[in-house]
Amino acid sequence: MTTSGATDRARVARAVSRAAPRLARDLPWVGERDPWAVLVSEVMLQQTPAARVVGPWRAFLDRYPTPAALAAAPLAEVLTAWRGLGYHRRARDLQRAAVALVERHGGRVPGGVEELRALAGVGEYTARAVAAFAFGARVAVVDTNVARVLARAVAGRPLAPREAHAEATALLGRRDPRRFNQAMIDLGARHCAARPRCGDCPLARVCAWRRGGGEDPAPRSAHVTRPQAPFAGSDRQWRGRAIERLRHGPATPAQMTRHLAGLEPARRRRVLDGLVADGLVVRAQGSLALAGTPRVAR
Ligand code: SF4
Repeated sequence: MTTSGATDRARVARAVSRAAPRLARDLPWVGERDPWAVLVSEVMLQQTPAARVVGPWRAFLDRYPTPAALAAAPLAEVLTAWRGLGYHRRARDLQRAAVALVERHGGRVPGGVEELRALAGVGEYTARAVAAFAFGARVAVVDTNVARVLARAVAGRPLAPREAHAEATALLGRRDPRRFNQAMIDLGARHCAARPRCGDCPLARVCAWRRGGGEDPAPRSAHVTRPQAPFAGSDRQWRGRAIERLRHGPATPAQMTRHLAGLEPARRRRVLDGLVADGLVVRAQGSLALAGTPRVAR
């Protein structure tokens, strides 16, 4: 199996750069420069497909156009604004991040990767994405899309976490970080998906794995996430149903049992206990309610 040399890497990078215009997807946050809007989009995209983020992203920013606006909102209201996105812990963390931005950064999103990483719910990928897309910082971003491209097209073998970032950084080189990082993500989304569509891929002639053959290196490579388990019947679905009920107001245990009919008692307890443990739901006076009171003044 080949490993990439400088020449191969340069060919891959050139092919990505050339293909960038036709790889571009029509997504409203692409080209966005407002750091807050970029941060919100990246948090939403962590676990929700892009097509499902478009509507909620606009609505969320209309409602919370600044970190201060989100920091001041009751969590129950924020969870309602998060409707349709799932993984509600992200909404809780984004609000915690907004509070930190108000308290420590004057209500602004900082541009440094380390400062960004200190925010709740912001990992390495999200920090780098905000730095690159909002601030134009020369940092490579490695999400699951990019990680597949790196493992297959550049290395032709599985990559360890540091190797993946090193390859991505070398590939970016002196190129425009906004344009090149976006092209890599788009390439992974359009062609180098979990099931790769190599036929019309712009890297088909330079791809190390396509040339070298062998077992697909992507599933064993760092930063490549496994496809999510089916939503239907999952705890995620039941958590969403419970939150949906509580958006209309507190509920007694009997009301929750009726609303979650079909869920066996032990699992129902686990789902509700999990929401409480995550700080999304509170128990008070024998009832359950969405958590949330204003935290800082607007
Ligand atoms: S040729 Fe296939 S494996 Fe290689 S980068 Fe393109 S889609 Fe991925």
